[in-house]
Amino acid sequence: MHVTWERTWSRWPGVACALFGLANIIGALAGPAELWFPGIVIGSVRAAIGLKGGLPLFESVPRAVVPGTEWIPRGLRSIRRRRIAASLSPLIWLPIAAIILPRVPETLLATIFLLTALPFVAVCAIWGLSGCPRCGGYFNPVLRPRFSLSMSRCDKCDLGIHDA
Ligand SMILES: [Zn+2]
Repeated sequence: MHVTWERTWSRWPGVACALFGLANIIGALAGPAELWFPGIVIGSVRAAIGLKGGLPLFESVPRAVVPGTEWIPRGLRSIRRRRIAASLSPLIWLPIAAIILPRVPETLLATIFLLTALPFVAVCAIWGLSGCPRCGGYFNPVLRPRFSLSMSRCDKCDLGIHDA
């Protein structure tokens, strides 16, 4: 899967976000050991987003190897698959968390919680940050929450998820 970074921010918000991430890491390391891992993970994500100046964009179709006429049907198919995976992931995660977390000692709780949630967060992030096969921008309204959230049409060019 090809990942590009959309430079959505100007320089200073990115720098601020990166510094905030570094502060998270330092703050976590100065605190109790059970917060090291969550602090480092969350801090590094913030630092990476800040340094890259925006969020990653996960291409829905490998444009370099797929002929142009196939981009839209294949891209939409992969966005539909990612949407199903993202909507199923809480249903899979909840029972796993319900079984594992009560058995975990309290000092490890934050770490284990994050470890179990990470794969599912990743599945949702890949769907949420999918690229539109027609216009190449984000398919979903990223960083622009709307009241009537439509996740079935491209936010930029209005391509419908079932159009092909
Ligand atoms: Zn589009």
